[in-house]
Amino acid sequence: MSKNENKDTNFGFKKVNKDKKPKMVKGVFDSVAENYDLMNDLMSFGIHRLWKRGTIELTNLREGDTVLDVAGGTGDLSILMSDLVGETGEIILSDINERMLKLGKARSLDKNKLNIRTTVADAENLPFCDEKFNCITIGFGIRNVTDKDKALKDFYRCLKPGGRLLVLEFSKPDLPVISDLYDFYSFKILPKLGKFFAQDEESYQYLAESIRMHPSQEEFKKMLESVNFKNVSYDIMSAGIVTLHLAHK
Ligand code: SAM
Repeated sequence: MSKNENKDTNFGFKKVNKDKKPKMVKGVFDSVAENYDLMNDLMSFGIHRLWKRGTIELTNLREGDTVLDVAGGTGDLSILMSDLVGETGEIILSDINERMLKLGKARSLDKNKLNIRTTVADAENLPFCDEKFNCITIGFGIRNVTDKDKALKDFYRCLKPGGRLLVLEFSKPDLPVISDLYDFYSFKILPKLGKFFAQDEESYQYLAESIRMHPSQEEFKKMLESVNFKNVSYDIMSAGIVTLHLAHK
C-alpha cells in the first residue's frame, strides 16, 4: 500500500487526495448548475421525474413532519414532498453548493412551496441537532460525498427514532446487454450531450465515471447497516440504472 493510499479517494476514475475532492465536486456543480434541470430531462428522457416520484411514495410522510433533503440541489425532491407535510410541516432543502441551492430556492418560491427552507450544509457535517427529522432524503448526491460513512452516521444522528432515510442513486444494470448499451450511452453520448447543450463535456464525463465507482446495492446496504440502520432494503428501478435504498432508525 502506498503511503498516500488512505489519503486518496475517487473522483470519477481519477485518484485524488481526499482534501481536494470537495472542491472538485463543487467545481462540477458550479459548472452544471444553470443547465442542471434541462440536462436531467434530456439525459434521462424525463424518467428522473418517475424515479423521484417513486422515492417520495416511500417516505410515508404525514402532515406536520420535518424533513431534511440532503444534497437537494435545485429542489426536485423537496418540491414533491412539500404538500405531503403541509403548512404545519417543514422541508429543509440543503446542499453544499450555493449556486444549486439558489436555484432550488427560486424554484420552490415560484411554485409557492412556502414550507421549504434552504440552507448550505455538508452531508458529512450536518448543522442540525440530534433526532430532529422524521425523514431524510438524498437524491443522486451520496456518490459525490467524500466520506460516505461519516455522512451516513450523521444522517442516523439527525433522524428521530423510527425515522426513515431514502437514498436514491444511480447504480449498475446487471443484464449484460443493458449494461453494454448503458456504458455506450454514458461514455460516448452523455459527455457529448453535455458539450452540446451545456458547453461542458468534462462534468458529464465525471458524472458517468462517478456512477461506475459507486458501491453496489449490497455493499451500500452493508454500509447502512454498519452505522446502525435497521430494516434496510432496496428497490431496483429501470433495470438497475437507479436504486433506492430505504433504511430506518
Ligand atoms: N438532489 C438533487 C436532484 O436529485 O436533482 C440534486 C442532485 S445533484 C446530482 C448532486 C448534488 O449533491 C449537487 O447539488 C451537489 O452540490 C451536492 N453535493 C455534493 N457533495 C455534497 C456534500 N458533501 N454535501 C452536500 N451536498 C453535496
